[in-house]
Amino acid sequence: MLEEQMREFALLQLKLRQEHKPEHIRNETLHAGSLMYFYCELCGWLSDVLPESFLSRPRHICSECQLLKDKGWLEHPLGWLEPALYDVAKQTTLEHGYDYTDPRTGETTKAKE
Ligand SMILES: [Zn+2]
Repeated sequence: MLEEQMREFALLQLKLRQEHKPEHIRNETLHAGSLMYFYCELCGWLSDVLPESFLSRPRHICSECQLLKDKGWLEHPLGWLEPALYDVAKQTTLEHGYDYTDPRTGETTKAKE
């Protein structure tokens, strides 16, 4: 596969991961001694699982997204990822009950009453 196609494919997969996040396990609800679950800052999928008494720093980016970062594809000059990130920002803002204004168009989406 060409580099260009690989990038498009990887970014499409990222978008799909962002749109289909698994339900997050909340560490504070688990009993003492349970494993701790950490989720990717970029896509919301599991990025690390560590014993409660972990000594190493948990990874906050999953291996799939790390690959995108390492490849430099997230900072592509054409902004391949941007629309996906704006979608996430919009969704999160509306979910919290606030109006969302798209910084690219100035278009405002009203939060549902
Ligand atoms: Zn990820």
